[in-house]
Amino acid sequence: MKPVQLIDKFLNNITMYRLLVYGLSLLLAGAILCSATGKLHIATPALLASSAVILTVCYIADRLLPILWEAYANNYSSLITGLILCCILPPVTSPHDLALEGAGALIAVGSKYIIARHHKHIFNPAALAALILGLTSLLPATWWIGSPVMLPFAVIFGLLVLRKVRRFQLFTSFLVASLFVATVLGLMHHQTITYILTTAFKSSPLMFLGTVMLTEPSTTPPGVWQQRIYGLLVGALFTSQLKFGFVSATPELALILGNVFTYLVSPKYKLRLKLKSKTRLAPHIYDFSFVGGHDLDFRPGQYLEWTLPRTKPDSRGNRRIFSIASAPGEEELHIATKTYEPGSSFKKELVDLRPGAVIVAGQLAGAFVLPKELDQKIVFIAGGIGITPFVSMAKDMIKRQQQRDIVLLYLVSNPTDLCYSRVWQQAEPFGLRVIPILTNADTEKTWQGLTGRLDEAMLQREVRDYAERQYYLSGPSAFVENYVGLLRHLKISHKRIITDRFSGY
Ligand SMILES: Cc1cc2nc3c(=O)[nH]c(=O)nc-3n(C[C@H](O)[C@H](O)[C@H](O)COP(=O)(O)OP(=O)(O)OC[C@H]3O[C@@H](n4cnc5c(N)ncnc54)[C@H](O)[C@@H]3O)c2cc1C
Repeated sequence: MKPVQLIDKFLNNITMYRLLVYGLSLLLAGAILCSATGKLHIATPALLASSAVILTVCYIADRLLPILWEAYANNYSSLITGLILCCILPPVTSPHDLALEGAGALIAVGSKYIIARHHKHIFNPAALAALILGLTSLLPATWWIGSPVMLPFAVIFGLLVLRKVRRFQLFTSFLVASLFVATVLGLMHHQTITYILTTAFKSSPLMFLGTVMLTEPSTTPPGVWQQRIYGLLVGALFTSQLKFGFVSATPELALILGNVFTYLVSPKYKLRLKLKSKTRLAPHIYDFSFVGGHDLDFRPGQYLEWTLPRTKPDSRGNRRIFSIASAPGEEELHIATKTYEPGSSFKKELVDLRPGAVIVAGQLAGAFVLPKELDQKIVFIAGGIGITPFVSMAKDMIKRQQQRDIVLLYLVSNPTDLCYSRVWQQAEPFGLRVIPILTNADTEKTWQGLTGRLDEAMLQREVRDYAERQYYLSGPSAFVENYVGLLRHLKISHKRIITDRFSGY
């Protein structure tokens, strides 16, 4: 297995929240070790004392505030906020300063509930707390995580986060803008390019801000272009050295101003949906139908982030991303999922929900959408539960009586996993041809259709004009990666390959 495949395997088996908790904890542990051995010029007792206060306040606030605000909480999110604060606030020991850090932690967690619209917070909580402590001159953030000795840790962790959340474009625009502005300003001060770039990476929180904080889902705009502008804006402000009266452009101010941009361009809601019914489509596949989201303005193929009321989630947390499996304008909003043994507490709770139960959904996003040109020939390749975005697209075609030329290669390991046969029947007159492929032929002797791995020969045989088509791949990350490789080998340009990776399987 290639190193990149090993990394993807690791990332596929860990949720984003868990990756952040583990990564930030390791970063902090690394910093404590470096300070204890004299490599990081921070007093170890101060680092330990500050971290203990910040994390304790975050923990208590995270338990109490959701009760006061009758809100749903993501149990990991406050821990992540606390760990980030530990990395950017100055390590201190005096009771006065420690009290201020506690106040900062309270502001950060509190802002998620107080400065929120429909249960969606507007500002990056850690950046907001740092900004308030800085503007009041009580305890300005030092961003010590940007020290040269921390750079290798920050780079490795940051790249893992970017690979996990697939936000390289956002980070690239941030990086380009910040390095461009830093270079222009540096040249004006007669600095060499080498000095400017080395300082940008080694002595500033560039990597930490651009990977861990900038990519926070709640404060990132949904569209690809909006994300690019967001990255450019934060990057340029971050290195601008601008002064607005007595306020200087700090990393936290750059991020908060970026969050204002996100707020202005993002849909401003969180849906509180009621479960209407759940249907078992296959032994381990369920379709859930919710009421309360019929006026959601989305495009088929997009997804939402779903939060379950707090019970006692396992280490994977109480939020998941699920593609919408219904058409825009349908009375009910559908999702479908597959369960596993041993499964997560989230899935168990979801499957046990009773009609009338409330679930919160938000963060509509996704660029896995059909082209506007109806004459574009298309191939869908779905791996198991990766079928969900295609269900939404097919239902929309039926609803709008839209004619397209689409071949759906539907790969399952068991024939019972083939779902939504009625949708495929109804979509056939509108140009959707379904080819089911049983990848594990041993499971069913009576199967009449195609069996085995979808390889180049099978694709060329089943889709004769394969070279002219645009490809949409949806399913577990390893599945998608595999078929991107196959298509690239067939010389299909990467511009004609659109992917939806169900990371987490
Ligand atoms: C853009 C996008 C769209 C998506 N759309 C959908 C969709 O429409 N439908 C859908 O089902 N999923 C979708 N997903 C994936 C979804 O978000 C979850 O990651 C996925 O369903 C796995 O859920 P789970 O973590 O609850 O694990 P489970 O489904 O319970 O299990 C998955 C695997 O992890 C193992 N596992 C579970 N819990 C633990 C644990 N605590 N410790 C160790 N191993 C464990 C299981 O044994 C199993 O092998 C999408 C993801 C993305 C990024």
